[in-house]
Amino acid sequence: MSNIVFSALNNPAWQYFKLLFDNNNLGQAYLIYGMPGVGKAVLAERLLQLLFCQDTAGKPCGHCQNCRQVVGHSYQDMHWLEKLPDKQDITIQQIRELRDFVRTRSWQGEPRVVVINLADEMNTEAVNALLKMLEEPATGVIFLLLAVNLRKLPRTIISRCQLLPVGLAPKEQIVDLLKMSGVEFNLAQDLAQYADGRIGLAELWMNNDVTLRTHLQVVKELIELITINKWLAWQNFINRNLAKENSSSLNSIQPAALELLSTCQEIGRALLQLKLGLDNLVIYQKQQNELKLLAARWSWARLADWLKSLEAARSKILANGNVRLTFESLLAKLISYED
Ligand SMILES: [Zn+2]
Repeated sequence: MSNIVFSALNNPAWQYFKLLFDNNNLGQAYLIYGMPGVGKAVLAERLLQLLFCQDTAGKPCGHCQNCRQVVGHSYQDMHWLEKLPDKQDITIQQIRELRDFVRTRSWQGEPRVVVINLADEMNTEAVNALLKMLEEPATGVIFLLLAVNLRKLPRTIISRCQLLPVGLAPKEQIVDLLKMSGVEFNLAQDLAQYADGRIGLAELWMNNDVTLRTHLQVVKELIELITINKWLAWQNFINRNLAKENSSSLNSIQPAALELLSTCQEIGRALLQLKLGLDNLVIYQKQQNELKLLAARWSWARLADWLKSLEAARSKILANGNVRLTFESLLAKLISYED
């Protein structure tokens, strides 16, 4: 069983869903939402296992055939749908393909479940097609929608779902869970520290240290860039990190842009903590020296301004603003300060 699953057991969203299940009172549609990396997909899998597990005593057992097929997304009464790798969004075609699944009855009278991961990546036509399905509910079909950004989903969809929020986990809990799955103490500390509450991210890094190394490399580069503060260096960095697709494919660079902003915000928070003398709270302990130099150089006003600009940029991008323009004005602001 994946360690993150343990944490799902303590998750309020999980407990609420289980209560409804135990009382035979499940609704038609649920919307699981939270930041990237908090474990939404794992929670969804866990909810499906609860519905389909063959164990009679300890549902979900996590290892019966059905539980395993749920994790493989191959169980017959589930349909797991997400953006195709070569597409910018979830298309109407994908939603149309749901029709047959939704119309077919389950053999044992079990529910049939549609998972849309991530529903906020549907394009307008797909949203409208889904809305039609939600308005004419088929018997025994449950929709589990996953989303990062509720602002990208129309009210009409949200109002048809019960909301299941997934939040951040305390650092100690993440360390414990990582240790339980065999990660040695120092590494568990590091992973939990960098994941900053996002347990799904900690697990991803636990299983794939390349992604963690890439992240730390970006952090190192960002600290250097902020220190040097030269337009050309920033442009090169932005081009490398955000220009994988052409500028028209807004949706595909949006997650990378938000991730980059999050990292900038973490660095900003680290500077704030150092200025306040709260050195032990800083996530990036290994970059303490570089960060301390920056913290000493930056005035309070400049730091406050930077954090405010980052938050404004995030709001703009979440509201589907142009990613490149948003970054350019952010950088112009940063570079306007003379050192
Ligand atoms: Zn099972």
